[in-house]
Amino acid sequence: MEKTLSTLYCRQCGSTHILAKAWVNPNTHQFDSLLTNPVDTEDGWCEYCEEHCELVTIEKLWDDFSIIPINDNDELEEQFLDFEPGTSRYDVWHWFDERCPNGLAVDLMGEQPKQQ
Ligand SMILES: [Zn+2]
Repeated sequence: MEKTLSTLYCRQCGSTHILAKAWVNPNTHQFDSLLTNPVDTEDGWCEYCEEHCELVTIEKLWDDFSIIPINDNDELEEQFLDFEPGTSRYDVWHWFDERCPNGLAVDLMGEQPKQQ
């Protein structure tokens, strides 16, 4: 899957194995992309959680992560996505970094891209 900042994730677990509701002609089963766009991100479905979830971008997840308390050892003090309390914040940063087309520093921390 191509990395983009518009990719949607399950807000509960961070999975991309998600479904959004779509408008389909019941007679032809033809998917109406115009009527479905934009997708209903409030009420998506996560195949991993097996329940309804909010669908959010990586930027929103980064916002969510910013309010998770971190202790003096750089460990999470609360659960975030699938990361248990006690996980190193750098493990979480790595998770974000892997999903950012230009890397965590540029896409989410607002650093200027390095000149080529
Ligand atoms: Zn989920």
